[in-house]
Amino acid sequence: MNTVVKCHSVPKLLEVLKELTDDYQIYCPVKQDDTETFLPLEQIEQDELLTVGEILSKNEPPLYSIKSFLFPNSEVYLKFRRNHDKVDFTVHSQQPEPTIVIGGKPCDVESFDMIDKVFLQEPVDTFYKQKREQTIFITSICTSKGPNCMCEEFGVDKSEPKLSDILLIESEKTEEKSDGIYLKGVSEKGTKLIERLAELDGLQKVDNSPNLIEDKEEIEKLCPEAIKDKMEKLYDSDIWEDLAMRCLGCGICTYYCPTCHCYDINDYSRKGEGVRYRSWDSCMFSDFTNMAGGHNPRPTKADRIKNRFFHKLNYFVKQQGPLACVGCGRCAKNCPVGISLNTVLQKIGGQNNGK
Ligand code: SF4
Ligand code: SF4
Repeated sequence: MNTVVKCHSVPKLLEVLKELTDDYQIYCPVKQDDTETFLPLEQIEQDELLTVGEILSKNEPPLYSIKSFLFPNSEVYLKFRRNHDKVDFTVHSQQPEPTIVIGGKPCDVESFDMIDKVFLQEPVDTFYKQKREQTIFITSICTSKGPNCMCEEFGVDKSEPKLSDILLIESEKTEEKSDGIYLKGVSEKGTKLIERLAELDGLQKVDNSPNLIEDKEEIEKLCPEAIKDKMEKLYDSDIWEDLAMRCLGCGICTYYCPTCHCYDINDYSRKGEGVRYRSWDSCMFSDFTNMAGGHNPRPTKADRIKNRFFHKLNYFVKQQGPLACVGCGRCAKNCPVGISLNTVLQKIGGQNNGK
């Protein structure tokens, strides 16, 4: 049976978690200057703690996905230094510190199912793997769907995501029940942390967490194989030119997307020493596929948009099995010209399972 602890409020929970900051880096979402961002717990001011609670209670994901805790937007690989007529290299191996990330949503944590397939298959990306092993994700569950959410259509269980380490469940105060925050261990490392939390003042072990979604609505899930086949018929469609007329090529859709995982590798050097680092890249940028000789196999915006949606809804299915989308809705919410994955799904009749 899952171990469960209860606390009376989010600010109290964060206060208790501060006792672990010698052993863990702890991050949570907070609102600053009207923008949601993740910050280390010790940098969050007392008067900002309520905004953490507000973000956790929302039935839609925060602005940024949690992928950056495993795959940072910029990361040094190697350090090098000129040594007379040769160059000395050292792998920049930094054993990541144990980390707790509070406030990812079910769609976010389920995106690791896709990113793991890329980074943990041979050759294993050890930078990613080490962080994956050292990080505990506390997922705040959703009780309903936000205006852009399509998580359930993409097979995400919004009340019981399988890849979470710990679930954070916030119950509402009713006449029969007092309100409270429940933490429920799911993975082995999550359950070990819950056992430790149960010993701290301010948290108490309880028998179970409340079931907030008593009758789960039956949502028809998208069938990856059917969507993949439908996409084949869209290869020469005019839709790509139409979308290219609107698209700004800004890359926002890829940077906020929890399943996008492309990166570029560059060197930075000065006075005989430097670093090799990787940083997020976007298939929506014109130089993404630019080659050394000047040839670019995707020279137009239409080519790049087509590739982005084919990667999500066709190529990834062929290579790995699932669709490369968890229906978080960030592309729909943040694209300045209103292009989203749903734009293409509607075109192929994806919401009726591609039949
Ligand atoms: S966010 Fe919208 S405008 Fe920007 S690259 Fe993506 S689809 Fe184009
Ligand atoms: S494609 Fe859009 S809806 Fe799908 S995971 Fe990425 S941002 Fe979310």
